[in-house]
Amino acid sequence: MSEIITHDILVLGSGLAGLRAALEASIISKGGLDIALVSKVQVMRSHSVAAEGGTAAVLRTEEGDSMELHAWDTVKGSDFLADQDVVDRFVKASPGEIRHLEHWGIPWSRRPDGRIDQRPFGGHSYPRATYAADKTGFFEMQTLYDTLLRYQNTTRYDEWFVTSILVEDGMFRGLSAIDLATGEFHIIQGKALIIATGGAGRISGFTTYSHAVTGDGIAMAYRAGIPLKDMEFVQFHPTGLIPTGILMTEACRGEGGYLRNSQGERFMEQYAPSKMEVAPRDIVSRSIMTELAEGRGFKREDGLDYVHLDLTHLGADKINERLGFIRELAIKFVDVDPVHEPVPIRPVWHYTMGGIHTDIDGATRVPGIWAAGEAACVSLHGANRLGSNSTAECLVWGRITGARAAEYALQREKPSSPPAESTARAKDHIFGDLMKRDGNESIYQIRKELRNTIDRNMGVFRTAEKMQQGLDKIRELKQRYRNIAVRDKSKVYNLDLMYALELGFMLDVAEVTTEGALRREESRGGHARLDFKTRDDDKWLKHTLAIYTPDGPKFDYSQVKITTWEPVERTY
Ligand SMILES: Cc1cc2nc3c(=O)[nH]c(=O)nc-3n(C[C@H](O)[C@H](O)[C@H](O)COP(=O)(O)OP(=O)(O)OC[C@H]3O[C@@H](n4cnc5c(N)ncnc54)[C@H](O)[C@@H]3O)c2cc1C
Repeated sequence: MSEIITHDILVLGSGLAGLRAALEASIISKGGLDIALVSKVQVMRSHSVAAEGGTAAVLRTEEGDSMELHAWDTVKGSDFLADQDVVDRFVKASPGEIRHLEHWGIPWSRRPDGRIDQRPFGGHSYPRATYAADKTGFFEMQTLYDTLLRYQNTTRYDEWFVTSILVEDGMFRGLSAIDLATGEFHIIQGKALIIATGGAGRISGFTTYSHAVTGDGIAMAYRAGIPLKDMEFVQFHPTGLIPTGILMTEACRGEGGYLRNSQGERFMEQYAPSKMEVAPRDIVSRSIMTELAEGRGFKREDGLDYVHLDLTHLGADKINERLGFIRELAIKFVDVDPVHEPVPIRPVWHYTMGGIHTDIDGATRVPGIWAAGEAACVSLHGANRLGSNSTAECLVWGRITGARAAEYALQREKPSSPPAESTARAKDHIFGDLMKRDGNESIYQIRKELRNTIDRNMGVFRTAEKMQQGLDKIRELKQRYRNIAVRDKSKVYNLDLMYALELGFMLDVAEVTTEGALRREESRGGHARLDFKTRDDDKWLKHTLAIYTPDGPKFDYSQVKITTWEPVERTY
């Protein structure tokens, strides 16, 4: 029998959402609940440390910002697919999170008078991205982690790879995991689980995401019977550095940067004259791709044609103070100094708007399981997320799910019997199946083909033909996956096994994303189709739900909650 470890609450993922959830559960229980924080990477290597530009919150009502304005910007940005009750909860809660972080010691960037500064971000009608230079995520993570250390009730399981979520009789029972350092298989039992495993950016090859962001938690929840919602909505960030895809934060444009085509024109004037470079990301990405398609970009042999992000007019002082990291990245990776030269960029796969279907409290359909952060789809971002709303979402729903899970756990006895059936299944999947596979397919080749398939067929502009080709290929890759070989049979840091598990998750996520997109016959937010060019509220003002079956996803739909604003044409 595997070793069984028991805690009250299991937090799966130690990014912003996971840390905030663990902290809230600690605060609520005054350190009384026993919490496990499980992560496949070291805490401070969670992807959230890479967040650069800012966290949205209304702090300045006396200067013209308001909750209503933030809510309207978010709903309009979402192309009316956000649930408006969720948006309302969000805008009211995010200012409190900024203040909490302030009290916990974060070094927010400040105005000359010492007050917290905020900068403009795409699609926001007011400069409300609260920031710490261009390393906002790093400082937020550091502050949350420091604060969590004041409580003595959290056990960290760093570099533990969770392989499945155990559900028996419709209830959450535990997690199966491999301690990567020893290769030992474990069951972690708990009364409550918060899934905070981030997005699925790495199903694409040209992405801003770190290598660990492979959609594991999304796929595990799906396999455990929890529907995935709105997975077809993927965000392309307009400014990925060529050729790596490293993010040039939206703060570059928020601080006044320009986008220019090969003729030196600020082309956003043609597409979003009132917002120009700080229009929402879906619009800016489409504008860049149109410029490239119409021959007004710069050519590259590898096909990564690009336009220019021009910061030269901002001056060295401003760039050094507010975008120092961006300057460093551009110099190191492409030998371009933004103080003197424009930076080559193009749209890059950036954010998973969909995710694990939850209600407004982050609760899933399985009692005892919540989801928060990018892994979850609480329906805040709809079809297109506004920049700086994601870190804020991680904080807000980290707090909410941490509180709900704590209340739930405080009312229950520790789990007694081990979940025998699901444990046996989880163990057999790894040791009876994956580790024994000795076929002639390479994990790495399939992964490469998957990413090429996504990049080729699921771009900024989509068509039925392309998506169908993508889906056929993904299904072929799923078949070939059955015939992989896990060549490394050792235990310590068996990365072959880890990549095999990740690949299985990515294939499931890619299938749901592509089929959901193919089915949605309209253009909305990040889902832009050349064969269905307009938004179709009569047929498609609804959320997509994908439900796992062994033969592939089954699809259902649910209503969008409209409480205040009926959909109108979206112009900027
Ligand atoms: C380069 C970049 C810059 C960004 N900048 C901004 C910004 O300025 N403002 C903004 O609002 N948003 C920004 N975003 C988006 C934002 O950073 C993310 O949406 C957010 O940080 C996600 O946090 P999270 O806690 O949900 O997940 P993550 O930070 O991705 O954490 C996921 C956690 O889950 C764990 N995990 C995953 N799978 C497993 C497994 N199988 N077993 C065990 N553990 C697992 C990981 O180890 C990790 O600890 C940016 C995104 C990128 C890519």
